[in-house]
Amino acid sequence: MPKSKDQKRGWHFLQIPGPSNTPERVLRAMNQPTIDHRGPEFGELGLEIINKSRQVFQTEGHVLIYPSSGTGAWEAALTNLFNPGDTLLGFETGHFAVLWKNLAEKIGFKVQWIAGDWRHGVDPNVVEAELRKDTRRDIKGVMVIHNETCNGITSDLEAVRQAIDSANHPTLLLADVVSSLGTTPFYQDKWGVDVAICASQKGLMMPPGLGFNSINEKALEYSRQTGFAQSYWQWDRVVTMNETGYYPYTPASGLFFGLNEALGMILEEGLENVYQRHRVLAQATRIAADTWGLENQALNEKEYSDSTTALIIPDGHNADDLRKLILNQLNMSLGTGLGKLKSKVFRIGHLGDFNELMLMGTLSGVEMGMEMAGVPYSAGGAQAAMQFLANHLKDS
Ligand SMILES: *Cc1c(COP(=O)(O)O)cnc(C)c1O
Repeated sequence: MPKSKDQKRGWHFLQIPGPSNTPERVLRAMNQPTIDHRGPEFGELGLEIINKSRQVFQTEGHVLIYPSSGTGAWEAALTNLFNPGDTLLGFETGHFAVLWKNLAEKIGFKVQWIAGDWRHGVDPNVVEAELRKDTRRDIKGVMVIHNETCNGITSDLEAVRQAIDSANHPTLLLADVVSSLGTTPFYQDKWGVDVAICASQKGLMMPPGLGFNSINEKALEYSRQTGFAQSYWQWDRVVTMNETGYYPYTPASGLFFGLNEALGMILEEGLENVYQRHRVLAQATRIAADTWGLENQALNEKEYSDSTTALIIPDGHNADDLRKLILNQLNMSLGTGLGKLKSKVFRIGHLGDFNELMLMGTLSGVEMGMEMAGVPYSAGGAQAAMQFLANHLKDS
């Protein structure tokens, strides 16, 4: 018998790859009366957040924050930069790439689409070849999902930038870092990412509700010449008001209290330590999966994600049935298969405010779930992960 919500005790394990768990510190920081978003207190908070955000994106550019989800931030970036009819280059790395393409096409952009099998990231050689072929310089933007959250695949953004440079093409590079920022190495300026698009609810350990466009001077200048966003999303207006920490619309000030705390936590831990923590937890997850005999949806080990692992359920079994059983019996949410991966994979989110014992709880839950559901697996995955983590901690 499934337990009702009122009958469940202890923690809910929110192990979807975003929204991720919100730390107590962030929850407490948000527990404040609403303030005047035109008053002096807000301006200070606004400036502090912009300053910390720059450090997390690793940029000297402008970090704009909208009350929106990641989808809104995609739309903001595209409409600020381009005009309907412009050509963008996109790669079918998975579900989120498809969603972004669909959004771009609905607005009226042309997407030159490189088909993919949802098991590989962006191939930089293909980027270079496509750009070299584009002798008329029609391609105005290259759209890359840094970490495809549907399949746990991280594309090599630095190599994509090198490919653009090798082709000597003036296109802008747009990267979706929604599930990579604060989990996976990302150096916006060093990697020459002109626009990074993010949302609050994944590596940033916040509830959903904030969308980010982190833009460099080149992108801002370009948008002033070419973009067709004239109102709410318009970068220029936000950048001007951001100079004093304010916004041309009512910012989500309640969430800003939390964001300030969350960014502070990331910087206190240190970005490189944050990346390392995620890398180790992801490795432990894959060790468990290998022991169980479950296949990873990602085929190239260099592209394994540090924030998400998508595992293929054995033939004849349904990943959503397993997830449902685990939710009902163990009070843990795992990520569903998205798009064409529906019922075929389940996803483990190992990102944000997350540590070794939380991972052990998660992996134990998966192993118990497979046992209960009669999914064929080899026992000992959780044990193997535990061993790996213990060895790692001993040596570190
Ligand atoms: C979660 C996610 C999004 C989020 O979009 P929302 O509008 O916030 O749901 C976008 N891109 C990627 C890669 C994601 O993982």
